[in-house]
Amino acid sequence: MIIVSACLTGKNCKYNGGNNDCPPVKAYLEGQSWYCVCPETAGGLPAPRPPCEYQGDRVIDREGTDRTEAFEAGARKSLEAVLREAKARGEEITLAILKARSPSCGCGQIYDGTFTGTLTEGDGCFTALLKEQGIPVLTEEDIINQKEKDQ
Ligand code: SF4
Repeated sequence: MIIVSACLTGKNCKYNGGNNDCPPVKAYLEGQSWYCVCPETAGGLPAPRPPCEYQGDRVIDREGTDRTEAFEAGARKSLEAVLREAKARGEEITLAILKARSPSCGCGQIYDGTFTGTLTEGDGCFTALLKEQGIPVLTEEDIINQKEKDQ
């Protein structure tokens, strides 16, 4: 089973109330077993919501409110949900395809907490939990790049 960030499949769970619909990811998933989650929604955050970034080990929204608890709870609940779903399907989780740079779903690079579009090394909190479980994580950009190489 492949785990996917819900916003990449067109669900309107992004901070601005929209989505990150990604046709190459949807094409990649065709015919495969997959399951989507949105950790921030699972943590009880509404859409739309103010954008959040990691500042050190805390997640702060652009208005200055500490949202760490909701982010961590959402990541934990999402991990539980994907493990439960894989068990119910009798499948292993082979891969996660998550939204690049998000404080929940980012992989390898996230925004640096200054809300200036500046990147720093790091993983989103959901990604970190998946990696702890030994689950390989890619972003939608890896899927797009792979597709371009194959063409
Ligand atoms: Fe998309 Fe992940 Fe943000 Fe939800 S938490 S909107 S799935 S990037």
